[in-house]
Amino acid sequence: MNIHEYQGKEVFKEYGIPVNDQEIVSTPEAARAAAQRMGTTVVVKAQVLVGGRGKAGGVKLAKTPEEAEARAKEILALTIKGIPVEKVMITPASEILREYYMSITVNRNDKNLLLMMSKAGGVDIEDLAVNRPEEIIRFPIHPTDGIDDNGLTRCLTEVFETPSLVEQAKEVVEKLYKIFQEKDCSLVEINPYALCPNPNGGDENVLMALDAKVNFDDNAVFKHTEVEEMRNPEELSADETAAKAAGLSFVSMDGYIGCMVNGAGLAMATMDIIKLYGGDPANFLDVGGSSNPQKVVDALKIITGNPKVKAILINIFGGITRCDDIANGILEAMKQISIDLPMVIRLIGTNDEEGIAILKGAGLESFSALGDAVEKVVDAAKAASA
Ligand code: GDP
Ligand code: MN
Repeated sequence: MNIHEYQGKEVFKEYGIPVNDQEIVSTPEAARAAAQRMGTTVVVKAQVLVGGRGKAGGVKLAKTPEEAEARAKEILALTIKGIPVEKVMITPASEILREYYMSITVNRNDKNLLLMMSKAGGVDIEDLAVNRPEEIIRFPIHPTDGIDDNGLTRCLTEVFETPSLVEQAKEVVEKLYKIFQEKDCSLVEINPYALCPNPNGGDENVLMALDAKVNFDDNAVFKHTEVEEMRNPEELSADETAAKAAGLSFVSMDGYIGCMVNGAGLAMATMDIIKLYGGDPANFLDVGGSSNPQKVVDALKIITGNPKVKAILINIFGGITRCDDIANGILEAMKQISIDLPMVIRLIGTNDEEGIAILKGAGLESFSALGDAVEKVVDAAKAASA
């Protein structure tokens, strides 16, 4: 689960990571008023759940309230990577002396967390990783034992050099780690982590989080009501929201073959095989291992609600799931919704003979071999699109 920059900065602030003040507005007039209140040059920043806003024109400086209004008007009219901008952040502009990068992610290969830092912040970390990987300093953090203090100081010194900055950065790493652990994150990232003149006028420059990216492990969100409360409805498509409410594991995709499968592994394999036969899946959908016909009804409603779907593939490998329950669910769904798309069914495993008989009684054919079923559904979908 992903959240907006302003929400990430609220979390940072709660943990004591230095961030600038911020106001979130949804009209140019409100942007002007916020800039007026701040009484300084501000940055107007699109709040959308994707990165690369700067490059897309979604981050602009404004020296006066009038400029803030004009920039907000432009940014609120933007669509960034397909997402319309509905809110902008107004925040005092910092003078940037240098842009660093800092993040913590999970390194599955290493069974560790990974702290990444760079002097070359501001740019896309993906680009940096490809073109100048030597400029990214990597430091493993044990997920439960915590941070090796000496090792961390050594790495921080490579990046931040002066003792005062190393000290500031070290506190921030510790706080990011705390956020990561306490809220079950999958990513915390500050880019740019910017070196700025001391806003209070002191000699010492300060490191500030001028951006915040916080992602949470979807499978742990249920443990944290305050995280669930940050969820933005636009994160999920309409069908993903419906699937979540129905307790189905669902991810929408760009293709045209609607899939209903039991089990995540089989669902992935099914999508692969659709591709192998020259088709394109419209979704990942795991109805789970239960034998609840209502789930089949819910699943088919969601699949048929997607106008891109040209044909449906039902692939069931019965274990705990019973093929006769699935067959009954399909018949029930056909009573509740008119399915006028080609539907190809593959049933095998527990109670498959009963399931096949139920379907046959309603005039529906079913396959045993997955290859045959996939070939048929790809052909049907292509014929329907032709
Ligand atoms: P992103 O493009 O979505 O990652 O958005 P960022 O929040 O990282 O902003 C993009 C760029 O805008 C940063 O890399 C900075 O160069 C610039 N920027 C953001 N905040 C400030 C600020 O307070 N002052 C100045 N001068 N530039 C800023
Ligand atoms: Mn950024």
